[in-house]
Amino acid sequence: MPLNVYSTLSRKKEPFHKKPGEAVSMYVCGPTVYKPSHIGHMVGPVIFDTVKRYLTYLGYKVTFVVNITDVDDKLIVRAKELGTTVKELAEKMTADYLDCLKKLNVTGIDEFPRATDHIPGMIAMMERLIAKGYAYAAGGDVYFDISKDEDYGKLCNRDPEQLEAGSRIEVTDKKRNPGDFALWKGSKPGEPAWESPWGPGRPGWHIECSVMSQALLGKTLDIHGGGLDLQFPHHENELAQSESDTGVPFARFWMHNGLLKLKDKEGNEAKMAGSLGNVLNVADALKQVPGDVLRFFLLKSHYRTPIDLGIWDWKNPATPIPNGMVEARKAYQTFERLVDLVQRISGSTFADLSLIPAVTTDRPELTNARQRFREHMDDDFNTGGAVGVLFELVNSVNKIAHDAKLDDPAKANNSEKPAFLAGASLIKELAGILGLTFRAEQTSLGGGNEMIAGLLQLLIDLRNSLRNEAKKIASKDDPARKVMFDQTDVIRKRLAELGVTLEDRPGGTGWRIG
Ligand SMILES: [Zn+2]
Repeated sequence: MPLNVYSTLSRKKEPFHKKPGEAVSMYVCGPTVYKPSHIGHMVGPVIFDTVKRYLTYLGYKVTFVVNITDVDDKLIVRAKELGTTVKELAEKMTADYLDCLKKLNVTGIDEFPRATDHIPGMIAMMERLIAKGYAYAAGGDVYFDISKDEDYGKLCNRDPEQLEAGSRIEVTDKKRNPGDFALWKGSKPGEPAWESPWGPGRPGWHIECSVMSQALLGKTLDIHGGGLDLQFPHHENELAQSESDTGVPFARFWMHNGLLKLKDKEGNEAKMAGSLGNVLNVADALKQVPGDVLRFFLLKSHYRTPIDLGIWDWKNPATPIPNGMVEARKAYQTFERLVDLVQRISGSTFADLSLIPAVTTDRPELTNARQRFREHMDDDFNTGGAVGVLFELVNSVNKIAHDAKLDDPAKANNSEKPAFLAGASLIKELAGILGLTFRAEQTSLGGGNEMIAGLLQLLIDLRNSLRNEAKKIASKDDPARKVMFDQTDVIRKRLAELGVTLEDRPGGTGWRIG
């Protein structure tokens, strides 16, 4: 099946217009950097990083750009509140954003253009739009005249009057039509300002994306992405400006990802908002779950559907994350156990497991998995379906290990080891397309903390020696024997209370968190 992608503009799935080997340009609207990144800021980057990974896997050469809005009303207000400059605040929050991306293994973004680095380009586009009659200057501002753009509203499939009724529109007496939007805003004293033919001012938000995408990726983008909440007015306005400027289509595919969905402890739909005190910053979420789990959580449903955080009693310190994330952490343990099993059977870490290109086994459950994974991804990047295939594959690989007793050196049927390793290698390959690493520091297999691993090994050794000593006492009624066995149980129970599970296996005792 060829790759099909849903476009918001045509409102249907269409065959992707390019062939593997060709260059693909992808632009996704990035953050306004005035506050630390919250979970919502990661949805688009994780999804489109995965889109790039899959296109790259198919052989496309993708250039992926995400802009940083580093001048905006919100930044000006926030910088004043904090007693800092817009520039300093923007730099600090950009660093936070980049750090969050790194923790979620979002590695595919090639460039992060800053709005303030592209002011001359924005002024040039505004001059062209004014010359063509699409824009006009008024009292230090510049506005786009939506009545001059015949197909304004085509992305949202609504006429301009409906769009106006459905959104808050800033009314000023400078505008010709209520729906006209600012390309340039004359500055008030004390605000950041750049010189322009219309006096000192700063760009509007929409023009930033039109200019930066054109500067870095050309007049027609292959994919323009962003959250569903940006469809109007932001994307409609980007489209209007760009197509009025260039006369050619702005984007071949418009992809919009679903938004986060949350319920309060009573089960009522809730918003994530500063005023409610339930904005989940990425840094706080990462204290509860590793980056890999967060990424898995964002990819386990289809990107166009809402991402369900589930119920969250956010005022209760005992529930620092929504239950949707807790469930994702539990589901992810299936992968952690497999990674642990691979390490015990192969003697090397999962990360070091070399990829076996073709699954050299006659087992259909393995040979079909790659194809089924691709069918889901070819169907408008259905990561939810692809994750389902991964779980089935893990079950098949576990079954091979279990049936052949591969983790018991004394009883193992080692002729099954190549099939097991081929399956594990396939899991690594397919999980890599989703950007899941299963690296130790990203999972609860040691948490990357050597001291914790050392302390746990100490307790395991202590428990084992108690048990061995107890076994040496022949009489089952001997009180010393009972005390020793009781102590081994206490160690197991107390660790379980701390969230550490001990697993007695043929090759020795292991542990995992959760
Ligand atoms: Zn944008």
